[in-house]
Amino acid sequence: VDDEVWTGSRVKAADKEFVIHSWSTQGALNPIPVAGGLGSWFWDYDGRKYLDFQSQLVNLNLGHQHPRLIEAIREQAAEMCYIGPGFAQRSRAELAEMMAHLTPGDLKMSFFTTGGAAANENAVRLARHVTGRQKIVARYRSYHGATAGAMSLTGDPRRWAAEPGVSGVVRMLDPYTYRCPAGHPDPCPVCSGGPHLEEILQYENPRSVAAVILEPVTGTNGLLYPSEGYLKSIREVCDRYGILLIFDEVMSGFGRTGEMFACDHWGVVPDILITAKGLNSGYVPLGAMTVSTRISEWLQDNKFWGGMTYAGHPLACASGVASLQIMQDENVVDNARIQGERLGAGLARLAERHPSIGEIRGRGLFYGVELVKDRQTREPLAPFNASGADAAPVNRIIKAAMDRGLYLTANFNVLRLTPPLVIEEAEIDLALDILDNVLPLADEHYTG
Ligand code: PLP
Repeated sequence: VDDEVWTGSRVKAADKEFVIHSWSTQGALNPIPVAGGLGSWFWDYDGRKYLDFQSQLVNLNLGHQHPRLIEAIREQAAEMCYIGPGFAQRSRAELAEMMAHLTPGDLKMSFFTTGGAAANENAVRLARHVTGRQKIVARYRSYHGATAGAMSLTGDPRRWAAEPGVSGVVRMLDPYTYRCPAGHPDPCPVCSGGPHLEEILQYENPRSVAAVILEPVTGTNGLLYPSEGYLKSIREVCDRYGILLIFDEVMSGFGRTGEMFACDHWGVVPDILITAKGLNSGYVPLGAMTVSTRISEWLQDNKFWGGMTYAGHPLACASGVASLQIMQDENVVDNARIQGERLGAGLARLAERHPSIGEIRGRGLFYGVELVKDRQTREPLAPFNASGADAAPVNRIIKAAMDRGLYLTANFNVLRLTPPLVIEEAEIDLALDILDNVLPLADEHYTG
């Protein structure tokens, strides 16, 4: 077995027999054996290339195999692969210092984890300790991670499998203007944020709520952009009741929306910022919790009740430092904005040709395309929590795109367009061309 050549089919066979894949019935899976990747592309063992319009799990912001990022990991590995979290270590200290400068407002000290879920867990526990309160307000159309607490914060249907979950989470509705759960009266209390939150707080006892956690731009659950005053309005209500505001920018952070952080679009600063994914493009598992100066000061006299063997792992932090330097040197945020405008303009042209495009939402390279059967009634091409036959129309589009070399995914009826932030003009055009070719598969269900 030692000498056996790992061909694509050998990899696939071992994977099929021994690897448990996320969120799936294992027997139904047929994963592509991947041999390599570079920039915005990856390929299989037969040399079939795919344009990665997902950045994998919306984390590979600098694309596959960035040479400087690889070199930084190599250098750190040669210097020191691991030292316990209790020691002061260079890449960890350097990354924390960079985060203090890069993050908005007075965000200062950071705790580094192995991913987004662990960072959210720590944020919630810390918010409870700082405020001496228990409840956390979270939204329905949200994803915060797959550990017990993070899954309980999560609103999307994957939470159902983890119920009853961790107690103390109170739910609020989302500013989903295209399908407003309140019917979108003018002014809409849900889509403007504060009024809806304040009403919930009255029922829950505002003095029992430690924090509100939300994604400033909702990622996984449909690419939802809040209205202009939404975050400010939520911030004001939190301040009025002494509630901490946690922004989960695991997906939206580090240039994804064409600003360094999504909350920068609206100039609203959280008390705790959660990041991961684009922080180091996922080359080594890494997440971060960055807290305000006030919480940093609180931590000088109060214990931080959190820790992990791999908190602030040197290799992960070294890749974070390199990643932030690359972002600056290569003007990655500007590229996200410029290519995002090209993508947005191209999608608007597609909407003229394809009636199934109900709404296009996006900034930077964080786009969602809502597919509908009828623009008037907005009936979705696949309903909420679609599976089986209900999901088939969207799955066919995704498969057709894959057959043409474009890697896509969707949240029910919303296509996610989230390529690497280093993507080039010609690659955006190629993706638009492939979308133009596969969207007739959605149009054929159009009844409007
Ligand atoms: N928060 C958000 C907004 C996410 O999109 C994700 C992952 O997709 C997470 C948290 C969980 O991060 P991780 O999978 O690194 O635990």
